[in-house]
This record gives sequence, structure tokens and C-alpha cells, in this order.
Amino acid sequence: DDGLGGWMATRRAKTPAKIALIFGEGSSMTYGQLADGADRVAGLLWSSGIHPGDRVAFMGENSPEFVQVLFGAMQVGAVFVPINTRLAPPEVAHVISDSGARLLIHEPDFFARVEPAIAASAELTAIVTGDGQDGRPGLNELLVDARPAPAVTGRSLSDPAAIIYTSGTTGRAKGAVLSHQNLTWVALNTLVDYDIVSTDVALMISPLFHVASLGMGLLPAVLKGATLVLERGFDAGRALGLIQRYGVTMLSGVPTTYQLMADHPDWATTDVSTLAKLTCGGSAVPTRILNAYEERGLSFSQGYGMTETSPGATSLAPTMTRAKQGSVGLAHFFTSVRVTDETGTPAPVGTVGEIEITGPNVFSGYHGLPDATAAAFSPDGWYRSGDLGYLDSDGYLFISDRLKDMIISGGENIYPAEVENLINDIEGVTGVAVIGVPDDQWGEVPWAVLTVVGDSVPTTESVRAHLDGKLARYKLPRNVLVVDELPRTATGKIRKADLRSALAPRK
Ligand code: ATP
Ligand code: MG
Repeated sequence: DDGLGGWMATRRAKTPAKIALIFGEGSSMTYGQLADGADRVAGLLWSSGIHPGDRVAFMGENSPEFVQVLFGAMQVGAVFVPINTRLAPPEVAHVISDSGARLLIHEPDFFARVEPAIAASAELTAIVTGDGQDGRPGLNELLVDARPAPAVTGRSLSDPAAIIYTSGTTGRAKGAVLSHQNLTWVALNTLVDYDIVSTDVALMISPLFHVASLGMGLLPAVLKGATLVLERGFDAGRALGLIQRYGVTMLSGVPTTYQLMADHPDWATTDVSTLAKLTCGGSAVPTRILNAYEERGLSFSQGYGMTETSPGATSLAPTMTRAKQGSVGLAHFFTSVRVTDETGTPAPVGTVGEIEITGPNVFSGYHGLPDATAAAFSPDGWYRSGDLGYLDSDGYLFISDRLKDMIISGGENIYPAEVENLINDIEGVTGVAVIGVPDDQWGEVPWAVLTVVGDSVPTTESVRAHLDGKLARYKLPRNVLVVDELPRTATGKIRKADLRSALAPRK
């Protein structure tokens, strides 16, 4: 079976003239043209010596080349390794060397960022997108002469399709190996639970190198033959313009994205009535945003997932937003979720434990990390997410926090996320991390580290006063520090391990 390698040819046969991609200032490409482009990439990869199982890395923003290289790689049985464009040079080098990529295709903007990785590897070939420079041909020239690749035989759906690196929030980024089966089923889960249809127009403001945009945006859209509007970055005003111009029906983002659009001067005058499918992941949608969108007749699906589950694990239907406020919903259609106690036994309803996931979208392991892989699965084969949460009596999942971030103070569990959500409501707070700091008497005590804008700088007393009466006293931060910047990953998550080690010796 060709897995994803067959998708483009099937689309070309079924809907050759349908617009697949809209990009730049109104350029477009049909499924027929996109499939031809993927064929040419496959030919180039094949003639460059890329064989089934070889890794092909790509570093670039959303573009037709991204999609063509992805599907071209699938056609020759290669493994696609997307690189987050916000990674620093040593992080890029880690992804390239750890994945063992043989070929790197990158946009010219990232020359400086990929340079150390290219210098460090004798086996790595690099190709720049566009027209090439310094007498070396670029992807455009190379594709003109590309001869078709022969059909690859003897492949299975369980073959790896992509290695996608985790965000590296809890340690060094790990390469999650996602198979053709994993990516097919996350796309199926998405189109079933989000009702994706061929007339959908999806605005891709989130980068395709994120597993969510790839598995839950691009792939289900291609399965249905829907249209994708590719943006190279997020600009609220531009996004609103595109929504109205193309009658966008599908949009995925994080809470900040939606906040910025609702705060934009064009929000009130833009026709947003076509936006039937809004999805929001990463964290809960604040009530303020829910209200602003509801006033315009719009509602959200909220989701929870991780790289290892390709990534969709659960989703909360828009109709349940109010009834199940704070929940990330039910497991996706073909996926199951459970919560277990320390012994691995399913925990009773309402009891916090580790969230475990099983289903055809769950990865088989981390590239080159047998110990981390073994530790990631329960004895009966469920993926252990490392997140804590509980199920209610209807099976709805509520996230508490990450296992590694939980604070134990005097024998009581503190979930920092609960404290952080309340501190976030304080005027001027732009970022907050609550972490456990060693304490002789209590084992650990919570501290809050904040970034702020404006004149009023919160103090330990003012933050505690804000939380008093809303939380048990042992959860109130013992100390509040205001800093210029919080250490973050390329996806914007706070590196709490760095904060913990910075603060531990200063107790
Ligand atoms: P690493 O695994 O390298 O430490 P990471 O876990 O941050 O990094 P990702 O796979 O990008 O890497 O993120 C998945 C994690 O994001 C989940 O395990 C969970 O902790 C968090 N997460 C995802 N969705 C939600 C949500 N809706 N609410 C709260 N947390 C979420
Ligand atoms: Mg993780």
C-alpha cells in the first residue's frame, strides 16, 4: 500500500481542476497541478538517491513547495522531517543529525540557521527553494529536469511517514515516528469529528511544520479535496481580509490568535459568517474570547493532543462549550482515552491520574530512543501522555497539568495550571509560570514567575490577595518574581525545567 504516497494521484484523478492551494497575493494551484508538482519532487528525490526509509528534512513556512515536498517524499517512501522555522541553529542541527536526514530542502531565509548542521554532516545534501544562488541550482531549476520516479513497491501502512519533533518543553525534543497509518487516521478522526467537507476553505495561519496543522488541517483537507489558503505567518488584519475574500470556513489557532483577530479594528466590519469550523488547541479558550466570538454567532471546537498522537486525542464539540466548560472533550472517534492511578489501574470518575491514549493515530516510538519509547507505553500498550487529568461521568476529559510540573507541598498536590489561569486574569500580566521550589519544611512550595506590561507591577502580596478565597491557601505562591522574559520553546511554551534549576539554589 502506498499510504500517503497515493493521495495526490487519487486527488488528480478525482478532482483535477479543483483549487487545492491559494497563496501569496491571490495565486492558486489546482489538485492536478499540485499532484504534478509532487511527482516532480518525487523524481528529483529518487534521482538524488533517496530511497524508501531515507529521511528528507524541510525547513520553510507554509507554501506550495512545503506540500509538494511532503507528498513527493511520500511517493518515494521517504520519511518527512519538518523543521520548526523558529528553532535556533543548535536545535536545527539536533533535528537534522538525530533524524539522520540525507537531504535538506530549505527556504533561502534560513541559510544562517541551517549552516552549522550542513557543516557538521558530510552525508547531508542541501537544496534551497526558489531559483538558487551563487551558481548552485535551486529547487525550481532542479524540478524542471526531474524525471518521474519509478513506482515503489512492497510498502506497508505501518512504515514511517514522518519524524516530528516534540516541543522540547520537558527536556530535549524527541523525534516521534509517525506512520502512514497514524497520519491517515488522525485525518479521518478530524474529518469525522469536525465535519470536514469538500466545499471547505481552510485558512492555514498556523505553520504546517506543526503536527496539528499537518495532521488536522492539510491532510483531512486533501482527503476531501477541500481548498487551503496558505499564509506564511499570522497577521490579524490580513487573516480577516482573507476570511472575507475567500469565504473561509475552517480556521485553527491558539487563544492568542483569536484574541488578536477580535481586537483588530477590522473585526467589526469583516464578514465572518462563513467561519463554521473554528478549532482552538494548546490551552483552554478564555471566556472573554468565547463571548466575543459568540456575539458574532461563532463557536469553537477545543482540542487536546500531542505530537505522539499525531496530534488529535480529544475534542470538545462547539455545542458543549458551555455545558462542559474547562473540558477538552471526548476522545476522537477512532481513539480512546483513560485515566490511571500510580499502579496503572483505571482511576474512578473525578479522580486525577495520568491520561493514557490508544488508537491508530498513536505513534510507535521515538526515533533512536528505545528507553524513552519503552517508558512511554503502559504494559497493555496505551501511550502514557505524562499529563494529569480526570474524566467526568459522561467521559469528558479535564486536564489538570503535566505530571512533571505538579508540585507536592506538605503532601498536597498543586496543579500549577490552575494557579496560573487565575494569575493570568491580573491586569498587565503577559506570562506566568508557577513552579515548585525546594523547601525544608514542606518539600516544595509554589513560586510564581511573571512577565508584565504597564505601570502596576504585581508583588507577592498583591498576587496572593488576588488569589485569596479562590484557592486553598497552600496553593498561593510563596514568592512572586517579575522577570523581563520567561524561557520558552520555539512553540512558545515555558521551559519550567529551566526555571526550576535557576531558582532551586536560591531558595
Ligand atoms: P516535550 O514532549 O518535548 O516535553 P511538549 O509535550 O510540549 O514537549 P507537544 O507534543 O508539542 O510537546 O505538546 C503536547 C503537550 O501540550 C501535551 O502533552 C499537553 O501537556 C499540552 N497540551 C496540549 N493541548 C492542551 C490543552 N488543550 N490543554 C492543556 N494542555 C495541552
Ligand atoms: Mg510531550
